[in-house]
Amino acid sequence: MESILKKYFGYSTFRDYQKTVIEKILEKKDCLVVMATGSGKSLCYQVPPLVVGRTGIVVSPLISLMQDQVMTLKQRGVRAEYLGSAQTDTSVQKKAENGQFDILYMTPEKACLIPTSFWSNLLKIGISLFAVDEAHCISEWGHDFRVEYKQLDKLRDILLDVPFVGLTATATEKVRIDVMRSLKMKDPYVAVGSFDRTNLFYGVKSFNRGQLFIDELVREISKFVTGVDSTIIYCTTIKDVEQIFKSLQEAGIKVGIYHGQMDNKARQESHRLFIRDELHVMVATIAFGMGIDKPNVRQVIHYGCPKSLESYYQESGRCGRDGIASVCWLYYARSDFAKADFYCGEAQTENQRRAVMESLMAAQRYCLATTCRRQLLLGHFGEKSSAAGCGNCDNCLTSKKERDLSREAFLLMACIISCGGKWGLNMPVDILRGSRSKKILNAEFDKLPLHGLGKEYSSNWWKALAHQLISNGYLMETVVDVYVTVSVSSKGKQFLSSARPDYQPPLFLPVTSEMED
Ligand code: ADP
Ligand code: ZN
Repeated sequence: MESILKKYFGYSTFRDYQKTVIEKILEKKDCLVVMATGSGKSLCYQVPPLVVGRTGIVVSPLISLMQDQVMTLKQRGVRAEYLGSAQTDTSVQKKAENGQFDILYMTPEKACLIPTSFWSNLLKIGISLFAVDEAHCISEWGHDFRVEYKQLDKLRDILLDVPFVGLTATATEKVRIDVMRSLKMKDPYVAVGSFDRTNLFYGVKSFNRGQLFIDELVREISKFVTGVDSTIIYCTTIKDVEQIFKSLQEAGIKVGIYHGQMDNKARQESHRLFIRDELHVMVATIAFGMGIDKPNVRQVIHYGCPKSLESYYQESGRCGRDGIASVCWLYYARSDFAKADFYCGEAQTENQRRAVMESLMAAQRYCLATTCRRQLLLGHFGEKSSAAGCGNCDNCLTSKKERDLSREAFLLMACIISCGGKWGLNMPVDILRGSRSKKILNAEFDKLPLHGLGKEYSSNWWKALAHQLISNGYLMETVVDVYVTVSVSSKGKQFLSSARPDYQPPLFLPVTSEMED
């Protein structure tokens, strides 16, 4: 193993987990590798084929990524090739069938469509492993579900004695389990690394979409782009991309643009200029994604709330690859949270729709949190971190104003319970504000003793309080069908049980900007 590492890759030692994973693959054990980007996952499937002298199959979602990897491997003397779905030339396939490659990449479509005879021929010679890169694409719970990935399970029944290896940089517990199940892994070895990117600062601000804010952003960025460092600005719509691009250009900043509606050539050119440091800023949709391995991105700005924390982690993670301190700012507008329909457009099944809603809710919780952002982000990936907070996020660095909101919390929680706990936030808030809407009159909620007791605060104030209570575990959100309902958690019930209408135990909560006026 070590001599192969030295000979082909020029490194003298394996990273700890690489060695173990490779050994397990050599023992023909299925493996799931969940490691942050840049941790060296590729070596896990590139080394075993060279050790045993049998072809390794690697499924990867993007032709451009495969081309890059194949080129680099060839330069190192590894016999590597790729099979795309559109390839009509069968010579690569023939050579592959004869076991002439150490590593053969293919798209998931190709892997499913290639005739069974291909696999049986190759099996006669021997297959060292079947690796699935970006394995989260297989899960409906993942942030990048691809239907073609779903069919890879068919191959498990053909490649009986071949170790399956799933690799991903981002997976929650749920996705992890789904990947193992979908690939029909048998008692796999699971390697999970830390997701903590300690050199990244995380911060969130709320904003109002529009030119006024963009002008402010342009001024900030003009101050920032002085040296060779670059910035990526991610927008949720092409319209936003174009507007920000234009404003930065007018300010004389070297800026590029990248989105799905540009033709291939224009996109590649943008990408190329950015990688070569000829552009300081890239304004893009998330189409500007996989395969950006640029060390000196110093700042990633999100103009609008992303659709999930998985995608936020991945997109923001494109800065600070070189380990130098870098910043991730997320700007959100309240209206971003009502975008479930927009994202649900791609969802086909009930499960997928629910996954979209839950992902968006997690992103929303991140935006509205008043506790350590890093802890929240890492917690989402099942990673525990120090109780004290990271000291490198906006919430850890700004001292928060807190206020005893026990009476208000009592009213809201009691109201949620009184109206049966099956509504979203609007209903209890409207009741507290004394609304006499048809819905309220029909349900006779105007007769509740709490009706109208919270008139002194605006709807938004109450919603901001609700998010504090969610963030601190007093309330919970649940997705039922395609609706989000709010209910009181056991922690909330405990608070209620020790409270009376005329007395509540103190409950100090952070006062966010939305609760100030
Ligand atoms: P990932 O797929 O996890 O994002 P890569 O496989 O692209 O990561 O590897 C990231 C970088 O780390 C590459 O430049 C790679 O050459 C380097 N690398 C991987 N393994 C080792 C090792 N054992 N020693 C030194 N560098 C390594
Ligand atoms: Zn923190």
